[in-house]
Amino acid sequence: MKKIIIGNWKLNGNTEKITILIKKIKKNILLEKNTIIFSPPTIYIDLVKKLIRNKKFFICAQNVDKNNSGSFTGETSPEMLVDMNVKYVLIGHSERRILHKERNSFISEKFFAAKKAGLIPVLCIGENYKERKKGIAEKIYKKQIDCILKKFGVFCFKNSIIAYEPIWAIGSGKSASYKEIQKTVKFIKEYISKFDKKVAKEINILYGGSVNYEKVIEYYDKTEINGVLLGKASLDPKEFSKISML
Ligand code: PEP
Repeated sequence: MKKIIIGNWKLNGNTEKITILIKKIKKNILLEKNTIIFSPPTIYIDLVKKLIRNKKFFICAQNVDKNNSGSFTGETSPEMLVDMNVKYVLIGHSERRILHKERNSFISEKFFAAKKAGLIPVLCIGENYKERKKGIAEKIYKKQIDCILKKFGVFCFKNSIIAYEPIWAIGSGKSASYKEIQKTVKFIKEYISKFDKKVAKEINILYGGSVNYEKVIEYYDKTEINGVLLGKASLDPKEFSKISML
């Protein structure tokens, strides 16, 4: 089964750095093997498009507004992303939840708007350190899924991706163990299957949080994840290419 690898560059890069990064990755990767997705800052989407030409790499936006047009200064709409050939969009990344105060109800509207425009939303869910310690992680995932499921129905998750990204693991150098990942994947699938078995079976679940090559080989075959969401490792062409070729 093909894996999905998303490289979230966050607020990093410039024309020169991005050109070098993509050229190096293009040299190292066999495209048929997996689904490789770059998530650049919005302003560089067009540059990335030009650099990848018609090669089979895909683009994921890091954010999107819930509106398609209007007086929303600084925003990018779902239809604009589609117009730029963007296929995926991150929704509810913990950095947006924390730094931009995005709440579940707002995130659910963005998810729905992205879906309606024809994008594939990548819903990021996960617990923070305190929630993990308190043993309420599953309650948190349920809330993060429910805000979409209860408002827009389970079919909203058809052809969508959920990225399990424990907040304590993002950028910390600590990764969830394969047992924790497996437990969460099972929880998500079982929960969604209560509403629709086929949607649950088909949904792609990724893991993200301090992923690097050494760690990923430990859990890739032991879990049912469909791929990984990379932050730091996506800026290192060697690391990104190695993970993308697994
Ligand atoms: C992320 O921000 O989505 C992420 C997974 O970051 P990192 O790999 O750097 O922990």
